[in-house]
Amino acid sequence: MSLKRIEIQGFKSFGDRVRLELYPGLSVIVGPNGSGKSNIADAISWCLGEHRASQLRGSRMEDIIFAGSDKRKPVGMAEVTLTLDNETKTFPLPYEEIAVTRRLYRSGESEFFINKVPCRLKDIQALFMDTGLGRGAYSLIGQGKVDEILSSRPDERRSVIEEAAGIVKYRYRKEEALRKLAAAEQDLDRISDIINELA
Ligand code: ATP
Repeated sequence: MSLKRIEIQGFKSFGDRVRLELYPGLSVIVGPNGSGKSNIADAISWCLGEHRASQLRGSRMEDIIFAGSDKRKPVGMAEVTLTLDNETKTFPLPYEEIAVTRRLYRSGESEFFINKVPCRLKDIQALFMDTGLGRGAYSLIGQGKVDEILSSRPDERRSVIEEAAGIVKYRYRKEEALRKLAAAEQDLDRISDIINELA
């Protein structure tokens, strides 16, 4: 599995549509300070499902929408599409390529697509879980991240190891099943109260 293409429009410093083709091997993005290199990494992690503005170096999610420059007016929507190769079938979908799109409007409304089909944020997060690209995964190492991992609490470090070991999705499914079980138990309690009242 590899990242083949990044398309960015209206995200942070990218007011106009930008398309970056990545070829097999190592790709390096160079540029002067403040030219938007880290914004590309932010665009990738946002599209992969990051929902914490602080992790995208902002205070509110709206901060990621292009706020205008000397030459260009602000825009109303940010959109990022990542195209990943799926020849090795890392993703359990019958496609050779997986294109994940995320949009955010100034109104706060969000849209998500997998191969142009609308989906939920949850579906995107589930798709990337345990692939090494999941939220908080080790495949995106930002400035200071190595220090952060070394000095993190054991439980935080464990989550990095769990993602690498591919067990995050099972933990997530277990938590979801436990939530449903608790809701079913509450329903059962309510039904037995009603039965007692009627008896
Ligand atoms: P360095 O080499 O110093 O780390 P960099 O190339 O990684 O810099 P970034 O941090 O990616 O640069 O980009 C910073 C630039 O992005 C700043 O000029 C900032 O004004 C611009 N920027 C961030 N958010 C927005 C936004 N919402 N609208 C317009 N410009 C933005």
